[in-house]
Amino acid sequence: MASEKEAALAAVPSHSHTIFDKIINKEIPSNVVYEDDEVLAFRDIDPQAPTHILIIPKVKDGLIGLSKAEERHCEILGRLLYTAKLVAKQEGLEQGFRIVINDGPNGGQSVYHLHIHLLGGRQMNWPPG
Ligand code: ADP
Repeated sequence: MASEKEAALAAVPSHSHTIFDKIINKEIPSNVVYEDDEVLAFRDIDPQAPTHILIIPKVKDGLIGLSKAEERHCEILGRLLYTAKLVAKQEGLEQGFRIVINDGPNGGQSVYHLHIHLLGGRQMNWPPG
């Protein structure tokens, strides 16, 4: 499997469907931990911490990454962040957690459907790689 960096450099920013659409549409299996009308949260297939969950909007609406956010996305952006807090509590991350949004090739983004990484269950390091 390609390294995270290789995957991010190979990924082409695009508005086309991604693997996350298949997860939203239940065309491929995923381990869902939270779902409502607007948001889906599921376990990352390649966890980088004991708890590693991705939180995504069900409707992409142009949000291929945070850098493409517009004023109209403010509500869903807040909803995603609030969901991260709810899921962190649900996962028992009382000792803390980290939220990450990778954007573009330099940010290490490989899937062009905005997603928040929720990482927890171990001590995080700074600076990130
Ligand atoms: P990176 O791959 O560098 O972490 P992103 O921030 O775009 O870049 O993250 C995409 C995430 O999606 C990765 O953490 C990856 O493990 C995860 N992922 C890819 N396919 C699936 C899948 N089918 N189910 C769950 N997680 C997935």
